[in-house]
Formats: sequence, structure tokens, C-alpha cells
Amino acid sequence: MELNIACIPGDGIGPEIINEAKKVLDAVSIKYGHKINYDTILLGGASIDAYGIPLTDETIMKAKAAGAVLMGSIGGDANTSPWYQLPPAKRPEAGLLGIRKALNLFANLRPAVLYQELEDACPLKKEIIENGFDIMIMRELTGGLYFGERSTTTENGIRKAVDTLTYDENEIKRIAVKAFDIALKRNKKVTSVDKANVLDSSRLWRSVVDEVAADYPEVRCEHMLVDNCAMQLVRNPGQFDVVLTENMFGDILSDEASMVTGSIGMLASASLNESKFGLYEPSHGSAPDIAGMDIANPIATVLSASMMLRFTFDLDQEADEIENAVRSALQDGYRTKDIMSEGNQLVGCSGMGDILAGYIK
Ligand code: NAD
Repeated sequence: MELNIACIPGDGIGPEIINEAKKVLDAVSIKYGHKINYDTILLGGASIDAYGIPLTDETIMKAKAAGAVLMGSIGGDANTSPWYQLPPAKRPEAGLLGIRKALNLFANLRPAVLYQELEDACPLKKEIIENGFDIMIMRELTGGLYFGERSTTTENGIRKAVDTLTYDENEIKRIAVKAFDIALKRNKKVTSVDKANVLDSSRLWRSVVDEVAADYPEVRCEHMLVDNCAMQLVRNPGQFDVVLTENMFGDILSDEASMVTGSIGMLASASLNESKFGLYEPSHGSAPDIAGMDIANPIATVLSASMMLRFTFDLDQEADEIENAVRSALQDGYRTKDIMSEGNQLVGCSGMGDILAGYIK
């Protein structure tokens, strides 16, 4: 199969971690006989340096022309980088928001997986995590409270602010379909999270999810109130498979779920549109404090590349191969600095890439 991938190395550690993800992808493509064409494109600070703006029409065009986008991370140190002397609309982060919008990425996926070897980094009690957990948080990204009408007024000397939470059934249906499709590739359970005891938008959410669930008899569907879900994530995270929720609830729950795994350098993410297209990137930022030092953990980016193979290109076996390589590296005691503990072997960013690619033979 021929895979066309637009690559955004970005800023800070971005180029280093993308390099390692490419090493691993290349190893997979050799083993399985695929051909990968990479088109490197600029976004964020790197684009400001080259063109004076964080996102160009050319970048959008090339991203749209690719099968998927694999991104490192963008941005710099807000206190020292000249990019942050620019007006907000011209800063690196504006490029990221712009490309997400241009590509209509409405579904955000963030896996939270506990690796047995990294259990010590998990802040939860041993008896809670003894069976591990593997959660996929699916958050609606372009609707709800963050995109509704808002205003701040003063009436009779009293300041008043209004935010509006709106969803229509089509917005709910398209993300619910994605969640059920993804559950089919996993443990076949969707937990839809809402606040249906209070909010009309949640009651609509619940009924549309039920309608979609009827088309997926193999997938178990349950509903959970958001306050209960926040509690269950730290009480019994092993009960979850796919967690489907709206924008603001997802913003909060995905951070909570990722933090219980304990390590920022391990967290992948994907943002998808209605087709198979997606933008894949680690959940962490560009870590300017460690850029160029060959100590960044490339695993979040490598796992983002594996999500790309699974969800955009439907190459499940190849994606499993990458995930198994990560497990093997951890089992064999290889650690980058951020996840290092006594008795293990410290490796750099490029060393970890070599090791991961080495398991794929
Ligand atoms: P950050 O995630 O870059 O770093 C937070 C801490 O985690 C730092 O100490 C860093 O060294 C460490 N860290 C992060 N990734 C690591 C890795 N792979 N291996 C080892 N250690 C790692 O967050 P920040 O410092 O708040 O942000 C830095 C820049 O990144 C900012 O410009 C911010 O806007 C940008 N950012 C970009 C994205 C994105 O591109 N999607 C996301 C978040 C932040």
C-alpha cells in the first residue's frame, strides 16, 4: 500500500520526535511491503521564521492532499521566544487552531493506557490499577460551549456573562458513529458521558447516541453522568473502553485520564474529520526546555503514528506491531529520562527510536 503522509516537525523537540516516529514507520513499511511518501510542511514557529505567518495556504493545501498528517509539536518559550512578541493571531498556536479548523477535525481521540512497567508513575493506589487500564477518550472538538454565542454585558450596574452550549443532532451523530466504529476495533464498549439530569443538550446527546448504538449491536453502550465519570476514572479506570463526550466535558476528562497514566511523554492523540483523514500528534507540547538535547521521549509521537496506521489507513496489524515494540522496549528496561527509574537503562531520544525500530524486524 502507498501511504501519503504530510509531516509537520514543528518547533522545539518536534523535529527530534518526528525523526524517531519516521524511523519506526519506515521499519514497519519495510516489514509489510508498504511505500511511504513524506511531504514535510511548516506550521507554527517554523512557519513564522520562513514566511512571517504561522499557517500558510500552501500548508493547508498540502495537508489536505495527504492521507494523514503526522505532527511533532509547535510553539516556543513564551517568555523568551520572539514569536510571542507578535499579536496573538500571528503566534504559533494560531497556526494550530487554524489548521484544525481548515481540516474540519471534529473528533479528538486521546488514549490513556497504563503500562505495567510504568505503574510507579501512576498516582492511583496499587489495588485500583492492578488489572491496568486502556481507555480511549473521544471528545467532540468543534461544537458546544467553546463555540457557542457569548456575551458580557452590564445591566443596572451588574456585570453579566453568557455562554451558550449548542449541539444539533448531526454534530452528535457524526462523532457517535466514530466512537462506535473505534469501539469495534477495541473492547466493544462505549460509555457516553453527559449531564442529562440537567442539560437539554445532554438529553439530545443521549437520545442520538442511543439511535446510533442501535446500528452497532456488537458494541455495549452505557450512559454516565459527567460528575460520576470524573469519580470513576480514579476509582475504577479499568471499567472503561471508549469514553464518548462533548467538548467541555472531554477537555476536562481527557486531562484527568491522561494524568492518571503518570507520564506526559507517552500520551498520543488524534483528531479526525468525517472521512478517514486525521491529524496525529503527541498530547504534550514542544518542550523548548529540552529541545536539541536528545533527551525527549519519542514514544507519544511513535504511538500517534500507530494510531494513524490504525484509524486512517486501517493497518491494524502494523499498528499492533508498533504498540508491541513499545511494550517490549519498556519490558526490556529501556527508558528515556522522563520515565527513568532505578535498575533500567537510560537511552536518548534517537536511541529509543533505534530500539523501537529494532523490534520491528
Ligand atoms: P510541554 O508539554 O511542552 O512541556 C511540559 C513539561 O514536560 C516540560 O518540562 C517538558 O520538558 C516535559 N516534556 C514534554 N514533552 C516531553 C517529552 N516528549 N519527553 C520528555 N519530557 C517532555 O508544555 P509547555 O512547556 O507548557 O509548552 C511548551 C510549548 O508547547 C508552548 O509554546 C505551548 O504553547 C506548546 N504546546 C503545543 C502543543 C501542540 O503543539 N499541540 C500542545 C501543548 C503545548
